[in-house]
Amino acid sequence: SEINEVEQRLQHNLGHIKNKIMVMSGKGGVGKSTVAAYLALGLAALGHEVGLMDVDLHGPSVPRMLGLKGQHALVQEEERLIMPVSLKKNLKVISVESLMPDQDASVIWRGPLKVSVIKQFLGDVHWDHLDYLIIDSPPGTGDEPLTVAQTIPGAQALVVTTPQEIALADVRKSLDFCRQINLPVLGMVENMSGVICPHCGEEIALYGSGGGENLAAANGLRFLAKLPVDSRLVLASDLGHPLDIMKENKGAAPGFQELVKKV
Ligand code: ADP
Repeated sequence: SEINEVEQRLQHNLGHIKNKIMVMSGKGGVGKSTVAAYLALGLAALGHEVGLMDVDLHGPSVPRMLGLKGQHALVQEEERLIMPVSLKKNLKVISVESLMPDQDASVIWRGPLKVSVIKQFLGDVHWDHLDYLIIDSPPGTGDEPLTVAQTIPGAQALVVTTPQEIALADVRKSLDFCRQINLPVLGMVENMSGVICPHCGEEIALYGSGGGENLAAANGLRFLAKLPVDSRLVLASDLGHPLDIMKENKGAAPGFQELVKKV
């Protein structure tokens, strides 16, 4: 049947992946894509075989951040396979953008269509053996992240928050979501938790500190990293030159060394 065929494709294309990490957030704009991209880059810099998959239909930002905008994925029509783009020997990247006829397409797609596009995309991308697949999921706790979680067997969630979100109850919503669908939570990351001073390089703790750590502890979760706002990261992402900042900074973006070691 059709359902069996989808299952078989998923098994075939995702079956050789050791760790599948779904990067999630309660809402947009907290740095989910940034965390996904630099986590993938950091893991690849350590020598792991890594795949990065951008499934955020609302604003696929991975291609821009990695300087891959306009590069088209190779689609083998006959076997219905989407081949990811190699950014480095051990880092392959694919964005749902490569399936979108134009940039505003996601706006006109209705909910059920989005869900079926996500499912098909997840099943059709061809990954060989990977140590890590990092998935930039759609934000929130609606049908789209649900589809990702339910389609990828064995996935774990990495929840990205900001200090403001921790004060609001958005993170709790994300954690409830994971609990309800039995998605194991690998841990939490607090992004934009402070600011790196461009003059002296010291971190200014804008929002105080400890909020994310406390929330993680209260929920029995691992607190994986606290990432400061760093203007070099903004620039690198806007220009699509992520590798320069990593070279300057011992192979990982600022704050990411710790995260990469823990996942
Ligand atoms: P999301 O995927 O959650 O919508 P993005 O990763 O696209 O968020 O980040 C939103 C904006 O914030 C982008 O312009 C990005 O470059 C910037 N940004 C995210 N995290 C950081 C950080 N730690 N330091 C500096 N800029 C950041």
